[in-house]
Amino acid sequence: MISNKPRLLTGDRPTGRLHLGHYVGSLENRVRLQHQYESFFIIADLHTLTTKPEPQYIKEIPTYIKETVLDYLAVGIDPDVSTIFVQSAIPETYQLNLLFEMLVTVPRLERMPTLKDMARDANIDSMPFGLLGYPVLQAVDILLPRAQVVPVGRDNQSHVELAREMARRFNNLYGEVFSEPDSIIGDVPLLVGTDGQGKMSKSLGNAIYLSDDADAVKQKVMNMYTDPKRLRATDPGTVEGNPVFIYHDAFNPSKAEVDDLKERYRAGKVGDVEVKQKLVVAINNFLEPIREKRAYFLAHPMIPNDVLANGIRRMQAEAKTTMELVREKTGLSYSLDLFVDQVDIFGNEG
Ligand code: ATP
Ligand code: MG
Repeated sequence: MISNKPRLLTGDRPTGRLHLGHYVGSLENRVRLQHQYESFFIIADLHTLTTKPEPQYIKEIPTYIKETVLDYLAVGIDPDVSTIFVQSAIPETYQLNLLFEMLVTVPRLERMPTLKDMARDANIDSMPFGLLGYPVLQAVDILLPRAQVVPVGRDNQSHVELAREMARRFNNLYGEVFSEPDSIIGDVPLLVGTDGQGKMSKSLGNAIYLSDDADAVKQKVMNMYTDPKRLRATDPGTVEGNPVFIYHDAFNPSKAEVDDLKERYRAGKVGDVEVKQKLVVAINNFLEPIREKRAYFLAHPMIPNDVLANGIRRMQAEAKTTMELVREKTGLSYSLDLFVDQVDIFGNEG
């Protein structure tokens, strides 16, 4: 699989199943761009340890790796053109991470807008060293396959910016190895959760999953937060920023139906129930083909298994090439061979 296409890397932590926020924020772009770029999709299990290092969470990782691969295949990531791999299966990740840690300051990391939120969401009151290093590890993920583009949601944009800085710093100090990656933000940069409170997230219980069945979707949508100021169907309602309409815009392919609902909502001529019922239909229509493909791969487990085996093999070769370049440029290229059966570094004939 030798290719001259530019490279793409992005991925997910195996902390749950993927949801509609992932779809509009990143997955949709991945499926669209995978033929244009040589694409690498990382299931970032080591990143899980930054907020959940305890064995009981590590025990959950295999299940979520499986769910994530199924979600990838179900939305149309094509393993014949794309590489899907598990982060911890690539030992060079740990190696490059240590080198990158030397190239960034603590105040720079403390200014990352995401880390305090992550610590808060995970109920952590004192910042672990590894969580502070989360964006450094992400820069490693991006730069190890020497990727140029990174499709992510807006919450991850600042991390890609740091990866650019790491690439620049490394190249300036040691010589050109990495290109500076660009982020590609999805159609809906940050999808709100069903609770209307913040972004849809695996950890916040406000997500509609790609693998939810029709009844689960119905139940979640019918309980969705709408316009809190509107008490009766005859009250004029607000469409802007209303989660139900944000979802209609994102998932209902009938623009005419959505426009009609918005007009009647603003005029107080439609109830929440009708708006929601139509949304249930739209989301279920959107999810049905994804569910069918997921069920197929679930019934043929050797397919996802081989996808990971091939992906890991492919990424291992790529990581090896990158680390050879890194060793050559940094001059840190010691190995046992250097001291055994050869001219040793003290200058004596061996
Ligand atoms: P966790 O709760 O474990 O942090 P998460 O649901 O926030 O999970 P991540 O694994 O952090 O998901 O994000 C994976 C990718 O999906 C990133 O590119 C992120 O920007 C994107 N993404 C996550 N949630 C949303 C959302 N609500 N809207 C748009 N993009 C999102
Ligand atoms: Mg997150």
